[in-house]
Amino acid sequence: MAAGAGSVGRRSAWAPVASLAMTALAITSLLPAAVLFCLLAQAQAVGATPAAPAPICFRCLRADIDFLASDQLQGRGSGTRNEHVAALFAASLFADFGLKPGGDQGSFLEKAPLPNPLPAAVERRLKAFPSTEPRRESWNVVGILPGADPAMSKDAILLTAHLDHLGIGPARNGDTIYNGADDDASGVAAVLELARSFAHARRRPRRTVLFVLFGSEEIGGYGHRYFLSHSPVPLSRIVANLEFEMIGRPDPAISQQDLWLTGYSRSDLGPELARHGAHLVADPHPAQHFFRRSDNYDLARAGIVAQTISSFGLHADYHQPSDEIGRLDFTHLNSAVASLAPPIAWLASTRWKPSWRPGGKP
Ligand SMILES: [Zn+2]
Repeated sequence: MAAGAGSVGRRSAWAPVASLAMTALAITSLLPAAVLFCLLAQAQAVGATPAAPAPICFRCLRADIDFLASDQLQGRGSGTRNEHVAALFAASLFADFGLKPGGDQGSFLEKAPLPNPLPAAVERRLKAFPSTEPRRESWNVVGILPGADPAMSKDAILLTAHLDHLGIGPARNGDTIYNGADDDASGVAAVLELARSFAHARRRPRRTVLFVLFGSEEIGGYGHRYFLSHSPVPLSRIVANLEFEMIGRPDPAISQQDLWLTGYSRSDLGPELARHGAHLVADPHPAQHFFRRSDNYDLARAGIVAQTISSFGLHADYHQPSDEIGRLDFTHLNSAVASLAPPIAWLASTRWKPSWRPGGKP
């Protein structure tokens, strides 16, 4: 959030079908053929739910944040080698999940040049967060899950978060590494895990799903700006963008298991996802203008129904070295991601399209 102004999941996906089928086999000798046929048909129907995502792997969520927010990544400073390493990590996972690369020259990475020099205000702010090398470029990671329906796959759902954070800066209580566990390793882990869950589902969603991690959000959103002119799918075909920002801790202003959506009343996207089971409510901090403070805003201005999911409760660790993994609430994070997967899978397979309400589009 910008300043103001594996395999376990895969196995368990099959478990209910396998155990039903095994139960059926074990009692074959006791049952008439017709009853057995019904049991097996039921077993198949469980697995055949259209586009039901594979279960969320909670161990993977924690492991991803463990790496991204580790001291060794030195706070993933925007446009630094550490941001690049975080991008390579995500690209490697996208490849593992079997996504199609949507970046430069058949890779998952997309190199976004940074202005040289950076705007004066950014340069001033970065004086406190020195980088060992010049910040010349930033890195996006773009993974594509092609839609299963030939016609509907021309439309895409875009799920995003930002890879970068502040890097190394002024010491607070002897700590100089701004780990950014909540901001935004939590959101990146959510996108990675949704990618795993959708890619490992028995059936792909009908629409294409783009999983994109942006670089350099914290210094002006250069990653998403580059993406806007280098999207693998025409922007007019992106029916919705959900950005995941700071979802690692519950917000005391709303109920413990809920998340909020910036600009909730601007479109019908939030209410419709909530109707399909997402624990999503309106942003309880309108004075903070969060709708305008993340990557979604420029995408919204480009016409995409683009909003940010968060549960940032204005905690004191915001943009501090103390934004560390130990401060995250994994009960909250796990249930947040698990509650979002089925409604987003629905969004990725329905013909319904979200739209701005009158006056809602920025
Ligand atoms: Zn931030």
